[in-house]
Amino acid sequence: MYKLFCEQYNGTLDVKYKMYYNIFMTSFNLGFGNPRKDICSFCVKKKASIRIEQDRARKQELVTELLVHKVRSRQFYSKLREEQDNSVLTICFDLMQNQALPKSPIGEAYYARQLWLYFLGMMRHRPGEQQKDDVYFYTWGEHQQARGANQVASALVHFVDQELSPNDHGIKTIRLFSDSCSGQNKNYTVLSTLNMLASKHKVSFQHVFPVRGHSYMPADRAFGRVEQILRAKETILLPEEYYAAFEEVGHVIKYGTDWGVFDFKKVADANLKKPPTFKITETKIREVAPPPAPLTVKNFYNAGGCQHTLLKRGKNWRALEAAPLDDTDCVKLAKKRDVKGLLIAMGQENNEEIKAFYDPICRTDEDAMETDDSDDEDEATVDINDDNW
Ligand SMILES: [Zn+2]
Repeated sequence: MYKLFCEQYNGTLDVKYKMYYNIFMTSFNLGFGNPRKDICSFCVKKKASIRIEQDRARKQELVTELLVHKVRSRQFYSKLREEQDNSVLTICFDLMQNQALPKSPIGEAYYARQLWLYFLGMMRHRPGEQQKDDVYFYTWGEHQQARGANQVASALVHFVDQELSPNDHGIKTIRLFSDSCSGQNKNYTVLSTLNMLASKHKVSFQHVFPVRGHSYMPADRAFGRVEQILRAKETILLPEEYYAAFEEVGHVIKYGTDWGVFDFKKVADANLKKPPTFKITETKIREVAPPPAPLTVKNFYNAGGCQHTLLKRGKNWRALEAAPLDDTDCVKLAKKRDVKGLLIAMGQENNEEIKAFYDPICRTDEDAMETDDSDDEDEATVDINDDNW
């Protein structure tokens, strides 16, 4: 397109590719393809094996495996689309990719570590167009909390409590659809929290997970719309600027003022049988009903399940309560230094409004600074990779 542009305006306009690109990306509501649609590695691998396989029988086997995988991934979406009456509420939730603070187009921003702001999309799923009033974004910063099972469980509890607060809600079953990330959604902490909610509200839950690699969700649609708005904002210095963009698509629920985090992980840790009687990573559907009903676990979408008891003997869901979790600063020291440097490079070091937000976050203890050489990876992994708890 740039080449065509140059041909068209040959000699009259001298526009470098970078400038063309910037204007194209920020001033036009156009896009190519869908960047969020990840390609499934299982499908790619199987297709490649099928192509090179010489043995006819083995080739047929591979084709069947791919077919089964595809049928299963479709079953997830037909579950999501199944028609429901008013006694059923369907909720989809997913974490959006991390948003950077400060966001800036200057070169330094590519190399500096930035502060992460997290947005957990939580939405009612109904037939038809996605409505703003069905979309909620739970947000927090890595200077406040980690990004793991406790945060997801707490947002879920907040959302469900709100949904079930009117006396005439009439809801008997809540269907949940989320991706299979074990650090955040598919773990014993979230499962045990659903049991606590089932007991408290006398409702049933059905939590459905997609086939790995095929997890395009209604939440992604909302995220895509937010991304489009964010693309037009080259510079973002404060969380409020992100909130404004998210408010165009849904409602922003802010950590600290609107919701808080509770230690559901500790509850699960102290009260669940160990070792668990089933492998949580293999489950596709989990059905939780108010006690004393057992938990039903299904490894396939359209098959019977097995029943399990999660709690240790003598424990009772109704009696369990999670304690509020204090703020946890997950920002590495090296990142704090980078953020400070970036604000200076952006000429913001004396802006009082900016300082009021960043100074408490970037305050570093000089002693600790000398011992911290750790390289910050993409995520604050406090809760993650912990054996699915
Ligand atoms: Zn696939």
